[in-house]
Amino acid sequence: MIDVHCHLNFHAFEKDYDEVIKRAFEKEVKKIINVGTKLDSSKKAIELAKNYENLYAIVGIHPHHADKLEQDWDIELEKMAREPKVVAIGEAGIDYFRYKSNEIVDPKLQRDVFIKQVELSLKLNLPLQVHNRHAGKEIIEILNFYKSDLLNQPGMFHCMSGDIDFLKRALDLGFYIGFDGNITYEGLAPGEDTLLTDLVKETPLDKLVTETDSPFLTPVPYRGRRNEPSYVIIVGQFLAKIKGVSFEKMAQKTTENAHNLFNI
Ligand SMILES: [Zn+2]
Ligand SMILES: [Zn+2]
Repeated sequence: MIDVHCHLNFHAFEKDYDEVIKRAFEKEVKKIINVGTKLDSSKKAIELAKNYENLYAIVGIHPHHADKLEQDWDIELEKMAREPKVVAIGEAGIDYFRYKSNEIVDPKLQRDVFIKQVELSLKLNLPLQVHNRHAGKEIIEILNFYKSDLLNQPGMFHCMSGDIDFLKRALDLGFYIGFDGNITYEGLAPGEDTLLTDLVKETPLDKLVTETDSPFLTPVPYRGRRNEPSYVIIVGQFLAKIKGVSFEKMAQKTTENAHNLFNI
């Protein structure tokens, strides 16, 4: 299996990232993709990737950081994106969820920073890893503007949420769909009207990819603890159950999908 989205570059793993990475590789996890959310965590993702053969990096600016950017951030990001183990641009997107710790960042800034990253991904022929929360309509509108180019260079929505219509539009763009440990949680997430299990059912097997978003979104039965890439296996088991296929088949398909998407 492959964890296509986690944050081992975050403070939560400062002390034991090496053990965490080894623990995943000792299980059925073949590759891990570590994702930046601003310039410094992107840089850290690249540094970590240099030390492990099967660890890769994604570099980008999360919408939460769209209002805290230094000048020429885009030039710096492009430089990083050209590093050999960088496999995509992300996590980039728009987020209109009102978090307790974070007010909604100025929508215009979010959009501008997202659009710059869409264009960078096309310029460098790298897939785009999109973060969306309560902004699906707007993201699709932006991506549709680039549709003919994106169809040659597909990307993915990470940590899928939203409704069936949004999912269909994402698939229309040729995008892959990532699910995390929150598929094991019961009921609807705040502000959502569609169950994640229903989104899984509507996603074709050849478009599914697995992720953990570690240290967040820990799957049941470990919910409440720190998440880690080895738990991507639990995500795979859950997806297999929802789709009515064997775990082996799910592991094989999602691994193949991640290989195709990220060219690894
Ligand atoms: Zn995200
Ligand atoms: Zn993330």
